[in-house]
Amino acid sequence: NVEPILVSACLMGQPVRYNASCVRNDIDAMTWLHTHFELKTFCPEVAAGMSIPRAPAEIDHGTGAEVLDGLKQVKENTGQCVTDQFVAAAHLTLAFCQQHNIRIAILTAFSPSCANSRIYDGSFSGKSTDGRGVTAELLSRNGIKVYNQNELDDLRHFVNA
Ligand code: SF4
Repeated sequence: NVEPILVSACLMGQPVRYNASCVRNDIDAMTWLHTHFELKTFCPEVAAGMSIPRAPAEIDHGTGAEVLDGLKQVKENTGQCVTDQFVAAAHLTLAFCQQHNIRIAILTAFSPSCANSRIYDGSFSGKSTDGRGVTAELLSRNGIKVYNQNELDDLRHFVNA
């Protein structure tokens, strides 16, 4: 039985980011993933109906945890509030994981949805700060282990592969 894991669609070559690009990824790492897991590709933001391309968004001087707790908002660089869409994206992703018995996710670093440890600080200036994206936070709260694409060695340890 091969374990299913969730992988951010933009890490799998799908041009679903806000600027209609994907994220460059290490081919060897992806080959290793393919041989050890059943990869379930998913983009939280596209699942929630966001367009490609779309305006860049950042958590407004807060974290995904604070967004889920209703304390902070997600905003586009125009100032438009998109908190509801980002929270919906997180819940759709959790539902997908639960439907497929997924307990591990590899999500894209620095995204306001997917980041597992560092996020942009809300100033749209490229500065980052500690915190998770909204989806990564909701998955973590529900017992799903979230890695980013630079942490595959940690995943290797976790699954002993
Ligand atoms: Fe990639 Fe996640 Fe952003 Fe979708 S929401 S484009 S999967 S980082």
